[in-house]
Amino acid sequence: MSRSPITPEPIYPDRPASLRAWVDVDLGAVRRNADRLRARAGVPIVAMVKADAYGLGMVPIARALGADFGEAADAARAPNAPWALGIATLHEAAELRRHGCVARVLCTTPLTVHDVPEAQALQVRPALHDSATIGAWLAMQGGPWHLAIDTGMARAGVRWDGIAALRETLHDARHVNPPEGVFTHFHSAEVDDGSLAVQDARFEQAVAAIRDLLPEGVLVHSDNSAAIAVGGASNARRRHLARPGIGLYGANVLPSLPLEQVVRVCARVIDVRDMQSGESVSYNATWQADSPRRIATVALGYADGYRRALSNRGVALVHGVRVPVVGNVTMDMTMLDVTGLGAACVVGDVATFVGRDGLDVLRTDAVAATGAISMYELLVGLRLRAPRFYVDTPSVGTAGDASGATNDPPSSEARP
Ligand SMILES: *Cc1c(COP(=O)(O)O)cnc(C)c1O
Repeated sequence: MSRSPITPEPIYPDRPASLRAWVDVDLGAVRRNADRLRARAGVPIVAMVKADAYGLGMVPIARALGADFGEAADAARAPNAPWALGIATLHEAAELRRHGCVARVLCTTPLTVHDVPEAQALQVRPALHDSATIGAWLAMQGGPWHLAIDTGMARAGVRWDGIAALRETLHDARHVNPPEGVFTHFHSAEVDDGSLAVQDARFEQAVAAIRDLLPEGVLVHSDNSAAIAVGGASNARRRHLARPGIGLYGANVLPSLPLEQVVRVCARVIDVRDMQSGESVSYNATWQADSPRRIATVALGYADGYRRALSNRGVALVHGVRVPVVGNVTMDMTMLDVTGLGAACVVGDVATFVGRDGLDVLRTDAVAATGAISMYELLVGLRLRAPRFYVDTPSVGTAGDASGATNDPPSSEARP
């Protein structure tokens, strides 16, 4: 299949007619997003592949990013490979290792003493934050580890203002196994509320308070996707690594860093019916036709991760045209008002609920905004039922999407 240079449509092969709903994941776009995030951060990245790479498939994503799986193919991508893969559970680390991944793996949720032997066996770099666990890790000669510092998230890490309590432990560690890294996590980097500067200052203060106990080349890191997007921050703030997650997967956390759409969520039209004025669609009859309408039923529902919050709000692309979701999204099916398409919409057609169809694109962040849901939850939910397919598109030479499309519903369609 060839592509005209002015058509930014990724190469999606046709799927068998028997396939009702599926998720296409563009690995080339993930790789280019990683490049953009790394360039903006100015430092190597820890690619956050936790939660099955935000629902998109941890092992294929890790491979696409060039993480070391001990294969010759990895070598070509090695120069741009992430410094480490970031995970949240030891189960995730085990899956990576089972697939032959020999890359550095950083677990950013703190270990408890119970997890120490398994983490060591899996050669995970754990986040540690209390004397007991650090002591257990040192006693086991557990290998490299990172010290987690809480600067306001109040979830994990030693409190920035209580770090003096760890001095004795860090002193013990100093000559045997000092932390390889020190990190914190921002709670609202995507919001311009001043909290990032506050957390930043607390982090600097905490690191300074233990500086004499840290090795010369300790890796200081803090930035998630939004903090990276805020701009060149890692350089200015002397960070050594950055930890993007959602940005890799193509959600624009901030307009200042346009990223490429990665996912495409598709399903087939399985029924088309004509309705009369005054008739309702779906559970609780939340939508009524105000004129004769043609309604398509599509084989995608909230059991596939197309969230119920998108009822009467979402938009799908059919033959490249935006059509509105009508009525409540159900577990297995969603209805679209395809009146505007006339006879062009038939059973077997593909409706795109997230991602590109033709020249138009429903961006992940825009779809989430339409449903007033978290774009993180939208992505992670795609793991529920629909099978995933991987494509690897070449660069289209532009960041983001050329169409600049928004996610507004089509004005020509009747809305309740
Ligand atoms: C999930 C996570 C990240 C990635 O955050 P994004 O907002 O997805 O970029 C970074 N650091 C830690 C500690 C995390 O838990």
